[in-house]
Amino acid sequence: MRRVYATPFCYHCGRGFLDSTPRTRDHVPSRAAFSAVDLTECPLILPAHESCNNSNTSTDKRMGQLVSLRHGSRRRRRKLESHLRAAAGPDGKVLCAMVGVDLKKAIWRWIRAFHAALYGEFLPDTPHCSVLPPLPAAHPAGGRMVPTPILPQYELFAELIKQSRNVGRLDSIRAFGSRLRYDCVWITAGDGRLVCVFALDLYGWSGLGSPNWGRQRCCMGHYLAPQGLPTNASHNPAKIALPLPACSPLDAFEEADS
Ligand SMILES: [Zn+2]
Repeated sequence: MRRVYATPFCYHCGRGFLDSTPRTRDHVPSRAAFSAVDLTECPLILPAHESCNNSNTSTDKRMGQLVSLRHGSRRRRRKLESHLRAAAGPDGKVLCAMVGVDLKKAIWRWIRAFHAALYGEFLPDTPHCSVLPPLPAAHPAGGRMVPTPILPQYELFAELIKQSRNVGRLDSIRAFGSRLRYDCVWITAGDGRLVCVFALDLYGWSGLGSPNWGRQRCCMGHYLAPQGLPTNASHNPAKIALPLPACSPLDAFEEADS
């Protein structure tokens, strides 16, 4: 963790630190997500510019309030209430839905921090990524909320992570008393591109999802790193035809350009 805090660049913007732009301590995920005890147990702290760190304050608060539902803090739960709505599910039962928080965007920022921590490289924001959230999603239809179908990538990524764990080819982070568990592996996709597939757990947060809205699922995803395979990355040589989601589904030239 000391090595991680000595990272010579800000994981948000990739720039270094000068006297005019000093480093601040950025907990990833933010401190709001953890109990007071877990916060001191091997915390993951990366250096960041104050302005970069502060630009995500409101999202960090919301994500912290969401995660802290798993370890009980009534004060934080009340603060999240403005983002919770009662919604009629497909079977007519009333369920609790969260609105107005971009889970995927918040998680993707953490993934970029984990990449910097594991490999000492800056991972720029890229459209070549996917984040599969740990909660069921739904959309309104006919006066009710209809569950969004679960993507096939969930099963494929979970199988890949488990298989790579069995052969000892995972890169891992355990932090905040192991309440944060992050595992990833690099594979060569069917088209020859190197892809990092990851899984992320925080306090067993997939348990927040109602089973009435589909099977509980882990947070997973993938990304392509512009610099290619990091030198100290774990590579699983298995060739897997990943059904990678298109970044621009309406762009017929997307494959040709990448
Ligand atoms: Zn920065």
